[in-house]
Amino acid sequence: MPTAIQAETRVPQNQIMTDAAPRLLVSRACQPQDTIVRLNEVAIGGSVPVLMAGPCSIESETQIRAIARCVAGQGAKILRGGAFKPRTSPYSFQGLGEAGLKLMRQAADEYGLLCVTEVMEPAEVERVGRYADILQIGARNMQNYPLLRAVGRSDKPILLKRGLAATLDEFLMAAEYILCEGNHQVILCERGVRSFVDHCRFMLDLAAIPALRARTHLPIIVDPSHAAGQRELVIPLALAALAAGADGLLVEVHHDPDRAQSDGPQALTPEGFARLAGQVQGAWQIGRQTRRFADLIPHV
Ligand code: PEP
Ligand code: MN
Repeated sequence: MPTAIQAETRVPQNQIMTDAAPRLLVSRACQPQDTIVRLNEVAIGGSVPVLMAGPCSIESETQIRAIARCVAGQGAKILRGGAFKPRTSPYSFQGLGEAGLKLMRQAADEYGLLCVTEVMEPAEVERVGRYADILQIGARNMQNYPLLRAVGRSDKPILLKRGLAATLDEFLMAAEYILCEGNHQVILCERGVRSFVDHCRFMLDLAAIPALRARTHLPIIVDPSHAAGQRELVIPLALAALAAGADGLLVEVHHDPDRAQSDGPQALTPEGFARLAGQVQGAWQIGRQTRRFADLIPHV
């Protein structure tokens, strides 16, 4: 038999979120006003949509420079590109490692961009942070707790991707791991979840945008590329995400997608990216209206 004190303090598993949520650092209850992640003159979660764009993987100097030039010319502020790649098959291209980080840093500096890249292990956080402005935690690592704690001790902003099958409670608890280590510069990224459908790679969860906004003050961006899996779906998903209130986009772009080492089919061409960039403002204006609906969702 538990003593009176043990019985009082024991919390059933299914009540942990509802009971503890008001005290979470990620919650609106803890911080009502939106967090804006600022880097130089770029504000993520501020009054303009932010475009992060670039290849799935950094492949060569020629490739990353060509793509950096293209996305900067269309108004992107942040260059994306993987140097340490979480590939399903161990035989697939794993990324250029530190050599890739150097190439990305040089290309970003040349075209006045910031850059974001994935870090996969705690021991690499310091090294990746020497080159990148924002550290990305990939979907497959959303619940890698030692990694979350390690980036929580970094002074770099963190782009946290939603796990392949994570609920919003799990997603927010992953962010909480980072905040509770002292790093409050977290950007949430919806990138589609596993479902039964076979017309896209992952199913983009648009409802997550207002639902997250109601619960958390953290900025929310959307990656339509990994959800789509094919470039023809990327622009509609990207615009829908902005119209649903996303603060920005993370988009894969390749100057020669047929020869890309990874995710070529979902990469926008430079022409496709220009078409998207031209429609961002219109979709964002709709988002300014629809994001008010998040205020109607009960804060939990
Ligand atoms: C990526 O953005 O490079 C990536 C691997 O995406 P995800 O972690 O969402 O699959
Ligand atoms: Mn990719």
